[in-house]
Amino acid sequence: MPSEPAGNVHLSYLRRLPAVDELLRTPQAQHWQARLSRQTVTDAVRQALEATRRSILQTTEEAALAALPVGSAAVLSQVEAILGAAQARELQRLINATGVIVHTNLGRSLLADAAVDNMRTVAAAYSNLEYDVELGERGTRYGHLEGRLRSLTGAEAALVVNNNAAAVYLALQALAKGREVIVSRGQLIEIGGSFRIPDIMRSSGAILREVGSTNKTHLRDYAAGISADAALLLRVHTSNYRIVGFTAEVPRHELVALGREHGLPVMEDLGSGTLVDLQPYGLHDEPTVNEVVASGVDVVTFSGDKLLGGPQAGIVVGKAACVDQLRRHPMHRAVRVDKFTVAALEATLKLYADPQRARRQIPTLTMLGLSPRDVARRIQRLRRLLPAGSAAAYRPRVIDGNSAVGGGALPMAVLPTKLLALQPEFCSVSSLERRLRCRQPAIIGRIARDQLLLDLRTVTEREIPELAAALHELVPTT
Ligand SMILES: *Cc1c(COP(=O)(O)O)cnc(C)c1O
Repeated sequence: MPSEPAGNVHLSYLRRLPAVDELLRTPQAQHWQARLSRQTVTDAVRQALEATRRSILQTTEEAALAALPVGSAAVLSQVEAILGAAQARELQRLINATGVIVHTNLGRSLLADAAVDNMRTVAAAYSNLEYDVELGERGTRYGHLEGRLRSLTGAEAALVVNNNAAAVYLALQALAKGREVIVSRGQLIEIGGSFRIPDIMRSSGAILREVGSTNKTHLRDYAAGISADAALLLRVHTSNYRIVGFTAEVPRHELVALGREHGLPVMEDLGSGTLVDLQPYGLHDEPTVNEVVASGVDVVTFSGDKLLGGPQAGIVVGKAACVDQLRRHPMHRAVRVDKFTVAALEATLKLYADPQRARRQIPTLTMLGLSPRDVARRIQRLRRLLPAGSAAAYRPRVIDGNSAVGGGALPMAVLPTKLLALQPEFCSVSSLERRLRCRQPAIIGRIARDQLLLDLRTVTEREIPELAAALHELVPTT
């Protein structure tokens, strides 16, 4: 009930408001109740009535009061907006036409069909998650993954946790709590979403020992930073930025040699981590996990859902002595993965046994591998699905552009692409962007130089007819 005392004029308007029950009995509200629930619709009706009450009480001029929409129809349209907004907040699929492949805000990597099938299987049935069928006794949750990771990366041991941030945190706790971790000042990174090396270090209980300068760190800087308290030498992939110009970082093998000399393990937070060579995609400065392992780094951590193209996970590979310390640490249990992750990761890793098959079936790799010509072919397909009149209303052009790997990986990488540039005749570019974004499924593009740009590198073949239908639908029929 309104807290302010209402004057006579206000009272007469408040009395005109429909009752909750009356609104719930309208055919429109009945329809919503059947689809959602009585409670959901009742809450929305109350919310809409309360908002209308407030606007009545806040309006002082008689003329403005008379103009206020207070009838059933007006309140019901508010209810519809409230229900729509609630629905838009629910997790749902959308169409990514940004061309950013590993888009953290849009869910990072799409899974291969085999991974989705495997998740479905273990979701709806019991499984041997922690059971050894041959021995008829308890098994390990990670047995399914460790063998594959060892053979794919050449590492002695492997471990999988919830995400890479957890992997780094666990490694710092297990290997360096209360002792010093030596890091170059050029690698004190922040990844979106508050993953910052200095902060994670502090919270893990390890002591950060920065060496060198922002743009140049030499081997002698690391050597001078090693005290009796040193526990670990840490290299961090500068995933989302590059220091260019007058720069120096210590090559991996030199750091490994320094570690050996002082009896200190070397760890590398690789960020994305790729199991296949990305040179054929024109991406030159990303080492494979195998290369890093082969160079003698003791602990390597990377994400499951970035360039690997699997589920969210943090993967640790390296020397058995170090990985076992992580495995035995109490914190390990707190960051363990669920069965869906095990299922999806196992199926994804299985595909990597044949790199050609991995490139064909893992969406992240397939998208990376598309040439501008392949993307242009998708644009053609989209345009063929659009009736000529509708197409013309968008004044479409095909222009050159670049896609991005995303996910904080390869910030300098250039993936040449073709973009569909739209300049609609019937509404503004920003209104088109909003209308595509606010429908279901939402379609996300980007605006540049007063055009809406759609990059079909990240739009799957299955979604192209849907995109065409959405564009056709928005053109006014005259
Ligand atoms: C992405 C990234 C992380 C965080 O990985 P999540 O899997 O998102 O937890 C940590 N370090 C580096 C270098 C990264 O690029």
